[in-house]
Amino acid sequence: MKMQLITLTCLVLCAVTPIYAQKTDARWFPDIPGYKTLAGDFHMHTVFSDGHVWPTLRVQEAARDGLDVIAITEHTDYEGYADDIERNRERGYEIALEEAEKRGILLIKGVEISPRVAPYHNNVLFATDLDAFPYGYMKDSQGTFIMKDNIKESELLAPFEAAEKQGAFVLYNHPSYGWWVPSDDRELFTDIHQNLLERGLLGGVEVVNGGRYNVIAHRMAMKYDLTMFGNSDAHWGLPENSRPITIVLAKDKTQEGVREAIFNRRTAVYSNNMLIGRTPHVDALFKASLDITTKKIDAKNRPQLEISIYNKSDMDFDVNFKTDFILDVLPLGKTILKSKETTTLILDAVWEYPETTTLKVEVQNIVVSPEEHLKTELIVPVR
Ligand SMILES: [Zn+2]
Ligand SMILES: [Zn+2]
Repeated sequence: MKMQLITLTCLVLCAVTPIYAQKTDARWFPDIPGYKTLAGDFHMHTVFSDGHVWPTLRVQEAARDGLDVIAITEHTDYEGYADDIERNRERGYEIALEEAEKRGILLIKGVEISPRVAPYHNNVLFATDLDAFPYGYMKDSQGTFIMKDNIKESELLAPFEAAEKQGAFVLYNHPSYGWWVPSDDRELFTDIHQNLLERGLLGGVEVVNGGRYNVIAHRMAMKYDLTMFGNSDAHWGLPENSRPITIVLAKDKTQEGVREAIFNRRTAVYSNNMLIGRTPHVDALFKASLDITTKKIDAKNRPQLEISIYNKSDMDFDVNFKTDFILDVLPLGKTILKSKETTTLILDAVWEYPETTTLKVEVQNIVVSPEEHLKTELIVPVR
């Protein structure tokens, strides 16, 4: 039997200490192999529907929060200040666009279709004409929200057909919210949703809206293979770094790059120090966030291995390390890999250094399904 095997069984992980903090330029998460990691918010309101801020503020907030891409999505069927602001659905977009171009932020043209019956609220992204979304299901939409008594299905489908004509992307906003009092998942994913899905029109769902994680929406995303979103749905001013973020894994930082990523489901959701997404995406984001270095230490003829893990992301990772070694100093192998800090592990009693060592990691605050967190491995070269 090779000494290396003995070595592995003798390693003891014996200390975990954050050493120093560094500053890096990357906001939220570094790029992953093959893709740029963009931060976005695809659901916001201004005074051009029922929000209470001017469109330029939304762009300034996005710049402050380190976002790359946003969509301001006014209710197409609700006018909050009918007596004060002349209805021009493109106007809010035009005002925001000038500010977005100055600040290098991509602005996606979009709207929110918001009847209070199924298919409920949906955002349209990559719209081309904001005047082309009919809302024949409304009786009065000026400073009030009154729907007709007898609404035809064709009236509810009409704005989605407009989205289809524009080659736009549709996502289901905040399923289960508010006033329609659903009693189970089936009422939330109705025949109309099934129809939109089969036509290739419904492509995404808000797993997080505001600060709220929605397990029903997460299940929907998995079951129907929908793109996951985490959006603020802001109506008022947003405090710094308070919003959820849709992480977009795009080939490049362009409208077309974001569009391609969203249509191909390459997103994840960051909210409240939690990352939610599909395993390959969040695993890549976790690994790209870590700079791992090793150092051999000779402590009185008892070799040790120091593993330093620097977390480049803006998120703390709540991890459990599992190895074949005895973890007698680190209860259950638990520690926090703090944002912009280095965590150091000392593997003790190494009789002979292996070429690599594997740390199995469970990351408690990376969620890969409604029931599971991320389980992965870090293969660390020993140098
Ligand atoms: Zn809504
Ligand atoms: Zn909204």
